[in-house]
Amino acid sequence: TMPSTIMLDVRKVKKQFGGFVAVNGVSLSLATGERRALIGPNGAGKTTLFNLLSGRLAPDEGDVLYKGTSILKVSPNEICKRGMARTFQITSVFVKLSVIQNVQTALYAHRRRSHWLLRNAASVLRDEAYTLLDMVGIRALAERQAGLLSYGDQKRLELAMVMALEPQLLLLDEPTAGVELNTRRELVALIKDLCTRKQLSLLFCEHDMDAVFSIADQITVLHQGQILAEGTPGEISNNPKVRDIYLGS
Ligand code: ADP
Repeated sequence: TMPSTIMLDVRKVKKQFGGFVAVNGVSLSLATGERRALIGPNGAGKTTLFNLLSGRLAPDEGDVLYKGTSILKVSPNEICKRGMARTFQITSVFVKLSVIQNVQTALYAHRRRSHWLLRNAASVLRDEAYTLLDMVGIRALAERQAGLLSYGDQKRLELAMVMALEPQLLLLDEPTAGVELNTRRELVALIKDLCTRKQLSLLFCEHDMDAVFSIADQITVLHQGQILAEGTPGEISNNPKVRDIYLGS
């Protein structure tokens, strides 16, 4: 069979909490190698949609196809093993462990899931962990306690940990949130570099429009649980409906 050119195909997913519809019939597709931003005001349903895609929540209606197969009945761990990895809005490094131990832990967890034989694991994982730290530019911080890193370096560490999962599709939840301008620019450059080098498909939520426009080929605008607009950065920035919700008029 031909390899699928659609990495992710989201079909009319709906999710209700009590009587409140958080995600209301959203469809979107992500081509292999595409970088799509998911934007929208607070409460638009972005995080809920991410949880539906990564298997943490089950939709009430609709379907999610990953590499051509429905993943509705697949566990988050199994989805991750198949190459879809995500980060969370809240930084999730192990604060008491060193930087290198954090990456080794991610590698170990992933390999154990893959039934990888852990002979000489410590030294092998250490070499691979250093390679990942190199990739995100924090090798020099390997022995530091992770909780004592700057917030920007913790974000880099999180990227090393998610890359340890050998993803094909990366879901990043606000990868530059909470960092100052220069650091944000470095993170944006790093994310683009990782996507290019590893030929990743990317779906990311982000509030910072400079980051969105710099990284994304395509943008989906979510508003009150529905798709308000979809298009290239140029199309979205010239869309009057999008301007309205962002200017609050
Ligand atoms: P965003 O990430 O775009 O800010 P969310 O997906 O976090 O939006 O939330 C969308 C809406 O769904 C919000 O109004 C939020 O309060 C509601 N919501 C999210 N998760 C739950 C939940 N577990 N229970 C009840 N309401 C929820």
